[in-house]
Formats: sequence, C-alpha cells, structure tokens
Amino acid sequence: MNKVDYLRISLIDRCNFRCQYCMPEGAELDYILRQQLLTAEELLTLIREVFIPVGFTRFRLTGGEPLLHPQVVEIVRAIASLPQTQDLAMTTNAFLLANKAQNLYDAGLRRINISLDSLDPEVFDRIVGSRGRSRWQQVWDGIQAAHRVGFDPLKLNVVVIPGVNDCEVLDLAALTLTRYWHVRFIEFMPIGNSQLFGDRGWVASAELRQRIRDAYGLVESQVRGNGPADVFQIPGAKGTLGFISQMSECFCDRCNRMRLSADGWLRPCLLNEMGQIDLKSALRAGVPTDEIRDRVTQLLTLKSDINYKQRESGTSAGTYARTMSQIGG
Ligand code: SAM
Repeated sequence: MNKVDYLRISLIDRCNFRCQYCMPEGAELDYILRQQLLTAEELLTLIREVFIPVGFTRFRLTGGEPLLHPQVVEIVRAIASLPQTQDLAMTTNAFLLANKAQNLYDAGLRRINISLDSLDPEVFDRIVGSRGRSRWQQVWDGIQAAHRVGFDPLKLNVVVIPGVNDCEVLDLAALTLTRYWHVRFIEFMPIGNSQLFGDRGWVASAELRQRIRDAYGLVESQVRGNGPADVFQIPGAKGTLGFISQMSECFCDRCNRMRLSADGWLRPCLLNEMGQIDLKSALRAGVPTDEIRDRVTQLLTLKSDINYKQRESGTSAGTYARTMSQIGG
C-alpha cells in the first residue's frame, strides 16, 4: 500500500466563482455555518498534534476558494514554518491572487495550481458565471503575478467539457511551448453538476493526447509528479502537460492522500463519503489529540479508496451530498 502523507485541506467551502461543473449558479448549496468551520487554531492543532505525528508531511490548501479565507497568509506561514512540512501548495482560481501572491510567497508558499478553463474571456466568463462582470483578465493578471513572484512549478488546471472548452485544448497545450508552466487536463467528473455531466459527458485523456500528438507531437516527460497526473511534453516545449484521468483510469494504487473539509471531516477518498470521520466535533468535545490521532491512524489503516466505476458504494443516497467545493477539490 502507498504511504499516505498528503493532506488536502479545504480552508473554506465558499467560492467567488460559480463554475458550471462545480457549484453552478442557482444550485442550492448548504454553506457551512461560520461557527462550524474549523478555526485557524483548530486546524493548526490538528496538523501539529494529529496529522504530522501520523506521518503527513505534505499539505495543499484548497476550497471553495482558499484566498477568501481572511487568515490565509497566516495559515500558510504557520504550516510552512513547521519543521516537518516538506511541501505546501495551494489550488486557487487566482481571482484574488495578484495582490496576495507576494505575501503568500513570503509566507512560505512555493507551489500553486490555478484553474483556468479557457483562454477566451467570453467562454471563461460563461464557465465561471461572471454575473455581468468579466473575470478573465483579473485571473490572467493573477497568473502573471504568480509567475513574476516565482511560484515554481506553476500549474494550470483545465476541466475539459465537451462542446464548452474542448476546442481550446491545443491552444491551452501551446502555453507550455514557451513557458515553464504545467498545463493539466482533468476529466470532468459527475460531482457538482450531474445534469451538465449527463448532457455533455467527458473527454478521455487518451483522446486529448491524440489530438495534441497529431498537432505538435507528444512524448512522455522525464518530469514525474507524485500525484495522479500522467505527465507528457510537446517535444522542445519548456513546460509539461499533465492528464488526470480519474474517469478512464483507476489510480487508487497510486493514491497518497486524504481530504479534510472546512468543517473538519476527514475523508479517506474523494469518492468515499461514507468513510469520513468528524475531527472537529471530537476536538470541540475535548477528546484528547492522542485519541483523535488513533482514530486517524485507524482510518489510514483501513483507507478504502473507491474507483469511479464503483462510486455508488461511496454514498448512502446514490449521489454525493457534497460538491468538490465542499470536499476540497
Ligand atoms: N477555487 C479553487 C479553484 O478554482 O481551483 C479550488 C477549489 S476547486 C473545487 C479545485 C479543483 O476542482 C479545480 O481545479 C476544479 O476545476 C476541480 N473540479 C471541480 N469540480 C470538478 C468536476 N466536477 N470534475 C473535475 N474537476 C472538478
């Protein structure tokens, strides 16, 4: 079994975007009440006294939109300064990044993944639900700021939706020709907007690779991530292309992660809603952290991953109660 040492932490379940595939405009979302969110102190206590002692050394801050968390820079600084932290990264939509990039870098953040589903401002705004105000330029400015400040690697995440942005795959891949950026294509999953998924379906990574290979050529990259992406490169390109194929492949055998929601539920696998345990209630009820540690160790021992094809077994109701924004995508 893989060593599970990577924790994805959802700092907040709210987001300033309404991406069609994640938390579409008009969808009823039960936000976590403020008093139910883990406080920064509780989060840091769990990291120091529970997660690090059981072997977690790599952390990613996500959401919702992590940059909406009022203490995001302080949280970065606190985690980055722990001697056991080997890696600290963030996934963001970059809308608020331009002004925060330098502070985050100075606080110790080095790696950042930015969601960018389109290079066409109109398509982008349609995807993220712009509410009458274009968001693309501010996101692009955020990406440029991250680049200037020195985030390395800088990864761009693209969820490919047929008939929406799949026609841009070659343009997005071409970003890597002259930049040391990593563009990662993610297969669309039926979490968040199953209706859109039902209407549009998803594109297999193998098909995207073929399209890119036909246009530019494609070789396996020497650069290896330690996550689920299969990494390739256009010959001579500076950056790489990653393919995250959770719909067409099973990579449970490579899984090295767990997810902590903003209200303190620890989930052993993205698709395993039944197996999660409530750490916040335990902490607030005064359960000693060494006992919480034992519960996490037990979950680690059992860690039951669920492949997409067996996903029904991960829920009690047949559909997932929480979207990516709530789980910490
Ligand atoms: N707000 C941040 C952002 O936009 O990157 C972080 C949270 S977002 C939930 C994290 C990632 O989940 C994004 O890269 C997003 O594209 C991905 N995601 C959300 N819903 C998805 C779905 N149904 N299928 C595949 N990826 C999804």
